Amino acid sequence: LTPVKVMDTLCRLMLPELPQTIDPRRLARKGAVISGQYAVYEMSRLCEILQDHSGQIIFRLEFRQDVENKQCLIIGEIEAGLKTICQRCLYSMDFNIASKVYLGVISDPVDVANLPEGCEALLEGEDPISLPAVIEDELILAMPFSFMHEDSECHASTKSYGINSAARNNPFAVLKELKQNRATNRRK
Ligand SMILES: [Zn+2]
Repeated sequence: LTPVKVMDTLCRLMLPELPQTIDPRRLARKGAVISGQYAVYEMSRLCEILQDHSGQIIFRLEFRQDVENKQCLIIGEIEAGLKTICQRCLYSMDFNIASKVYLGVISDPVDVANLPEGCEALLEGEDPISLPAVIEDELILAMPFSFMHEDSECHASTKSYGINSAARNNPFAVLKELKQNRATNRRK
């Protein structure tokens, strides 16, 4: 057991158990709200993206019924404190994600057109909807394309900048390097 897992277990003991699957239409009729948290290590697809699996995710989802349009909406937010490796310096980096959730539950893909503006479709199939999968999908969509420290925080930033600027300021250094490369190639 890692300290993160111990903390996670303790938090869980204090919070009501989260359902594994949800029936959004039933929850919307009751005007239910589900909030809770997950640990990153519980989400396998998220773990594939992140090198460090010690992060935490908290979320709050409101299930609403739009009586006029007979639609079931899920509105809420997800916040995550995550860790991974900076792609530039390969040191650990922390990053936070805060993402709004705005989903409309549909059972036929054609109904996408009827959803309110800015609302993403959550397609209901024959299988029940998995709550952790909904949270994981939303987080993956909110992920940045690449992970890098800010310039001022990156361990590689001064070093790589130093090399590049030296070469840029001294064209003869580049020329010398080219000549050396050619000489080594000829020798091969
Ligand atoms: Zn870095």
